[in-house]
Amino acid sequence: MSDTFAVVGSSLGYEGKLVKGELIPKPQSSFIRVKCPKCGNEQVVFDRPSVAPRCSVCEEQLADPTGGKARIRSEVIQALG
Ligand SMILES: [Zn+2]
Repeated sequence: MSDTFAVVGSSLGYEGKLVKGELIPKPQSSFIRVKCPKCGNEQVVFDRPSVAPRCSVCEEQLADPTGGKARIRSEVIQALG
């Protein structure tokens, strides 16, 4: 009896993991290569940043975080996968 209970318990745990995975949609995040409008430095920034990405050279703000896709302030060179 206790063996049966153990099997049920573990299968429930497995299902719980599956449901959790389905709740999270496939990440459609991507990265973009942008050119700093101030110093011309090219760098890769996240498409949906939670904080404003800044140029690694002159610290110019390169995009505004919007909660979704960032509003890019700089020139977009290339979109990466
Ligand atoms: Zn810069």
